[in-house]
Amino acid sequence: MQEDKCCLPFWQGFRVTDLQVGEQVVRVQLHPSDLAQLRCGRCGQAAQGLHERVQRHIRDLPMLGRTVWLDVELRRVCCVSCGACMQQVSWLDRHARLTQRLAQAVALGCAKLPVKHVAEFFGLHWSTVREIDRRRLQALIAGLPESEPRRLVMDEFALYKGHRYASVVLDADTRRVLWIGQGRSRAAVRPFLCAQHGRTPAGASPAVSWSQRTK
Ligand SMILES: [Zn+2]
Repeated sequence: MQEDKCCLPFWQGFRVTDLQVGEQVVRVQLHPSDLAQLRCGRCGQAAQGLHERVQRHIRDLPMLGRTVWLDVELRRVCCVSCGACMQQVSWLDRHARLTQRLAQAVALGCAKLPVKHVAEFFGLHWSTVREIDRRRLQALIAGLPESEPRRLVMDEFALYKGHRYASVVLDADTRRVLWIGQGRSRAAVRPFLCAQHGRTPAGASPAVSWSQRTK
């Protein structure tokens, strides 16, 4: 391998020790370059020592139409707080098999396309893409301001081909989904309504409209 390939700046803390370009796949072998700065991947403290070396195969963003696989040598380090723990890597989440930039690209795709199409585009398993999309949606919901509904709408939908039902409650003005739970009886939605009553001033409970009469 040519010497200048060792300086690829895409994997902070690692140097490229081998690069193989095939018709479909690019394989990049990475080796830690700054052992003196090893940190615990859980708490971020400076590592007290090296516990063991592990080899991981990690997917990265496609390169020039080719799938990119990284063969990475990672270190499990000794941390005074966490014990033996995987080292901190700026471009890779703990236990992840995809780089952060690939996960971000997948999440962007999920905002526009069905999970199945995104999985096919990136050549990833459907369940992997669904999990990334689930985390994306959770982050979106966590960033929303707290709802203050004045009028509620409740509807129901079938689960498992119609044998069971779930209820959904929305803010009638913003159409924001506030709650989803199994069952369609008043008892099933009582936890949500009780929580709403606790959050609103006395006598100011939101008006509720049911799509069908609940039992
Ligand atoms: Zn730690």
